[in-house]
Amino acid sequence: MREDVQDAVNRVDQHRLWQRLTEMAQIGAIPGSGVNRAAFSDEDVESRKLLISWARARNFTVAIDAIGNLFIRRAGSDPHAAPVMTGSHMDTQPRGGRFDGIYGVLAGLEVLEAIDAAGAITRHPIELVAWSNEEGGRFAPCTMGSAVYTQAKPLSEFLAVKDNEGIALEDALARTLAATPEAEKRELNAPAAAYIETHIEQGPLLEQEGKTIGVVTGIQGLRWFNVEVFGESAHAGTTRVGARKDALRDAIAAINALHELTRDATDTVRFTIGRMLVTPNSPNSIASHVLFSVDVRHPDPATIARLGDAVEPTVRKAVKHCSVKVTVTLHDDPCVFDSAVVEGVERAAQALKLPHQRMPSGASHDAMYMARVCPTGMIFVPCERGISHNEAENATPEDLAAGARVLTAALLELANREPRG
Ligand SMILES: [Zn+2]
Repeated sequence: MREDVQDAVNRVDQHRLWQRLTEMAQIGAIPGSGVNRAAFSDEDVESRKLLISWARARNFTVAIDAIGNLFIRRAGSDPHAAPVMTGSHMDTQPRGGRFDGIYGVLAGLEVLEAIDAAGAITRHPIELVAWSNEEGGRFAPCTMGSAVYTQAKPLSEFLAVKDNEGIALEDALARTLAATPEAEKRELNAPAAAYIETHIEQGPLLEQEGKTIGVVTGIQGLRWFNVEVFGESAHAGTTRVGARKDALRDAIAAINALHELTRDATDTVRFTIGRMLVTPNSPNSIASHVLFSVDVRHPDPATIARLGDAVEPTVRKAVKHCSVKVTVTLHDDPCVFDSAVVEGVERAAQALKLPHQRMPSGASHDAMYMARVCPTGMIFVPCERGISHNEAENATPEDLAAGARVLTAALLELANREPRG
């Protein structure tokens, strides 16, 4: 490792990172060490102000765009070079933990501080981004800030979305933007040279394998469906079994067939029926209507395409007595990260002698949208028993700092890359 890079890595301060995570966790704290910090809420605003105060203490510049994504920049030597970016989100699930999202933001700030303290000169600016509304718990859908930033979706599509209390996103967003007037306004889709996001794994693999760093190779593909089975309600005591149109019986047959379809000796396929509505849902009435959800995921593009495309035919074949309707509710193709970024993260983990392994991400992240516009990668660190989206979410100060050190080395390498062509 180059001496200047090593110097910056050495300045990553485990204690400062942990203190800041602890301080942020008090904003929206809920019983059981959890956090409830919904997008564009008072708590979100408070966390933004705290982040900005830390950034300004170091004289980093602060900017904000129309969806409220917050950018904190340390300048580079080349005024024409696009920033090398890192970051994650500060919002949480309603009963979220202290690390999901906020770790990637504060690790990014720690890296900026370490690089600054080392006096490193980088060609590209290095920029920390805190994406708006990643969780989608208050305003659906999720990963909204990165979707709008990358122009995958227009902001106008989301302005009328309302929360459970009837508050429109447009109004909550306007309040959030007004609360940080010190941030200069930034256009959407400003160019990015590269992006690396650090995040807790939200799964048990690293802990089980005794590894500190997950070198993330991509984000698995995801297909969601609603399946509706239409039968006919009748009396459970009087109607012959042979004469029934039993929507629940056919739904169970369809679910069994889907389990067969997704059976996988390598245990890589993720298949879930998480929701089922039965009508009229009475013990002595034959079900007239059943709706169930299907969630199937896989990192390999060919496999997820095959499985996703087979859902409707499999259901139709299994349903014998009723009619059926299958609706696609979400379709995210797998995202494969840039090989140079993945290798850069791997090299950094190796040089720092941290046990590491390559792995896909099971969960969606803002990195999915960034991968569409610039070379992108992610760094995972272990979380206790893989628990996330839960108050009990936990991680060690040592692992969190290790992730920030890998990020420092990987970002510095990218920020000093010579321009192409
Ligand atoms: Zn997250």
